[in-house]
Amino acid sequence: MNNAHINLSIVIPVYNEAETLPELFRELKRVRDAELRNTGLLEIVLVDDGSKDRSWELVSAECDRDPAYVGIKLSRNFGHQLALAAGLEAARGDAVVSMDADLQDPPALIPEMLAAHRQGYDVVYATRKSRGSEPWSKRVSAALFYFVMEKISGVPIPRNTGDFRLLSRRALTELAKLRESHRLLRGLVPWIGFPQTQVMYDRADRVAGETHYPWHKMMLLAWDGITSMSRAPLRLAYSVSMLLLTVFLGYVLYVLFNHFARGDKLVPGWTSLMATITIFGTAQLVLLGVFGEYLGRIHEQVKQRPLYVIDQMKRADAWGDGNGGGGAARGELQTRP
Ligand code: UDP
Ligand code: MG
Repeated sequence: MNNAHINLSIVIPVYNEAETLPELFRELKRVRDAELRNTGLLEIVLVDDGSKDRSWELVSAECDRDPAYVGIKLSRNFGHQLALAAGLEAARGDAVVSMDADLQDPPALIPEMLAAHRQGYDVVYATRKSRGSEPWSKRVSAALFYFVMEKISGVPIPRNTGDFRLLSRRALTELAKLRESHRLLRGLVPWIGFPQTQVMYDRADRVAGETHYPWHKMMLLAWDGITSMSRAPLRLAYSVSMLLLTVFLGYVLYVLFNHFARGDKLVPGWTSLMATITIFGTAQLVLLGVFGEYLGRIHEQVKQRPLYVIDQMKRADAWGDGNGGGGAARGELQTRP
């Protein structure tokens, strides 16, 4: 793995990023002309995740201008994690770096990640030293989430890392075998194992536009992460109901003892009755709710749907050369079902 030439793919999911794309293209060009000059072949895979603005037009134009660009247009918005999956699966590099379109992840860090990869690491995380001007509420919730996630999933989850990371070809091959549709790549990548390391950077603010992760979407993502990695909530519901069952059995014994041994003809115990019914009603609802969550996910998974649907793909033939791939000529549209 010590040769200087590594064919590199950069994968970037794009959702309504028309404002940030010109800046992204400029920065990528700068890094290519400078730090990445002698690396090897380079492709930049942009996955348009059903944008409603001019993003695809911009991506498409860039593909026409520059054969290093690969454009994938998903048929609708599938969400960040699945758009990322689409890009990772289309990437042809020996090493693949995934990053955001908004330049919160600086492309200038890529050479450092490549250097770590050359030392034999299959996964190189870019870890944030600082989190730009993110509010403390986001930091605290993130810290809490990673703590819980790590405890229940049993795999170490690197802190302060988003989806800015490098994956080796063999890491990608293994990752592609994990087909869950509700996913958090941040949990799946540590799961595959192989030597993993991290490089540090300062996270900037978005160059333009707004985050696509408001609170409710973050919570959904966290829940997807937890349920895809662990059965802990299911087990928790189970232990709670077992505990309540024990208490209930004790109570029944007490009632029977009262009735037979002490001859106490139980006063109509409206309060205790109501209390019991309430507790058990609640416990059952909780249990059913958690069951429902997992059942829903099983339902989703047994359908074996593809993770995403590609509408169009623009890719120059450059990397197909010599492999007899017979791909489309430069700039020509390849449409995959
Ligand atoms: N993104 C996407 N699909 C979505 C939402 C976001 O492909 O449904 C992309 C977005 O264009 C960006 C990346 O995912 O490149 C991360 O999104 P964002 O920067 O809004 O998240 P944040 O950095 O605020 O967590
Ligand atoms: Mg961002």
